[in-house]
Amino acid sequence: MGNMFSRLRITAVDHVSCHVRAGEIFGLAGESGCGKSTLARMILGFEEPTAGTITHRGKDGQPIAGKQVWRTAGAQAVFQNPFETFNPLRQVENYFFGTVHNYQLADTRAEAVARIDRALQLVGLNYETIAGRYPAEFSGGQLQRVSIARSLLSDPSLLIADEPVSMVDASLRMSIMNLFRELVDTLGLGVVYITHDLATAYYVCDRIAVMFRGNIVAMGDVENVLMSPKHPYVRLLRECIPATNPKKRWTTKIQLAESDIEEYVRVGCKFAGRCLQVMEICRREAPEDISVNGALTKCHLYRQQMGQV
Ligand code: SF4
Repeated sequence: MGNMFSRLRITAVDHVSCHVRAGEIFGLAGESGCGKSTLARMILGFEEPTAGTITHRGKDGQPIAGKQVWRTAGAQAVFQNPFETFNPLRQVENYFFGTVHNYQLADTRAEAVARIDRALQLVGLNYETIAGRYPAEFSGGQLQRVSIARSLLSDPSLLIADEPVSMVDASLRMSIMNLFRELVDTLGLGVVYITHDLATAYYVCDRIAVMFRGNIVAMGDVENVLMSPKHPYVRLLRECIPATNPKKRWTTKIQLAESDIEEYVRVGCKFAGRCLQVMEICRREAPEDISVNGALTKCHLYRQQMGQV
């Protein structure tokens, strides 16, 4: 079995179509290896799609001169672990001044400080709270706020946040989630919230897409998708939410187990091996996207029910 899959080409994200509106939090949910991280990397320009486009405000992602990578203008990342975002030996403010310099956001130091202060105030801090301090002098929750403020420096219109509260103390998680909501409401930002945690997704998201093995299998208003789940995978997820593995992050390549790879290359519905409602057609044909009560559902069950066979 060892090398059986070694020559296979895995399509981590396949035929995915979704859009994020200004002023909304859009959840991208699923277990590790479902493709949500790859999709996030594409939106941020760390990976180029082999087919299809990523557009931002009507414009395609742009190749950066000299490098075959895309950049979706106006998108910034908020990473999972703020203690990994900042070098422990470097004062936090240096990162801010570095970003101001890279984006040419100020001509003088006073202007830079004012800009940094403004970004920090958006997250409930100010320049004085970070001046001269090192990462270890902050709590996890505070440092995540600092990290979010840095992402806001360049006035992005889209934040891509990867499990932004999974490393934060449980008692502070809600305050960070509420902060995203405030930023969306006050700045009109779009936020893509990537998570395996349906409970926080339900709490904070307006809409959600649930991914399984490279496909979006359910997408729509969060209430609709999560509280009246139609897709068998979403029902299963609601019963047994997989534990997060902090080592599997979208900044690194995810190692798939062979059983995962089997699901990726499966003909028909990729969920057929685990689905309690699997039918004969599921093993032959990949299901189409069907609108069920206003939510996208990729499942043959509804094709039959809707008489579309
Ligand atoms: Fe289950 Fe078939 Fe629906 Fe796939 S298409 S989720 S196997 S019922």
